[in-house]
Amino acid sequence: MNALIEFTRALDFAAHKHIDQRRKGLRAEPYVNHLAEVARLVAEATGGDEPDAVIAALLHDTLEDTDATREEIEESFGPAIAAIVVEVTDDKRLPKGERKQRQIDHAPRVSRPAKLVKLADKISNLRSMAVSPPANWSQARKIEYFEWAAAVVEGLRGTSEILEAQFDEAHRRGLEDLRGG
Ligand code: ZN
Repeated sequence: MNALIEFTRALDFAAHKHIDQRRKGLRAEPYVNHLAEVARLVAEATGGDEPDAVIAALLHDTLEDTDATREEIEESFGPAIAAIVVEVTDDKRLPKGERKQRQIDHAPRVSRPAKLVKLADKISNLRSMAVSPPANWSQARKIEYFEWAAAVVEGLRGTSEILEAQFDEAHRRGLEDLRGG
């Protein structure tokens, strides 16, 4: 299917699936803002040449955070995109600590489009942690989050110089702000 049509269909699908969700930061941004940012980061970093990764970026949290199913995504967007979304989805049956460790362990083994989405997701998350952190998070918890994100990204390196540099910048700035402020 035409990539632009598929992209707009994915945007529409994700916007509806996440309709009642907001980001957990102080600004409580609409969830779709995060999806738009992740998709834009992937699109720009790949010069628009990897549409499957961009479309998967829009859908990347639907399995984890909404009632969407793999079958539904497969039916609407095909098995290749569904497979990427599955790769970037945590197994919610596992306890949180184990899920976080699995992200570190699995990062080097996922496909290139999944790595692009994960890199962009971590950049978006660190940026919003800097401008709109969750109200109830202590300084230590935020720093711990930054350290965990960096550990995941270690396993994603060699994928996109642009995204890796953007992550490093977001990480450096965020930690600077956290330690200085
Ligand atoms: Zn996300």
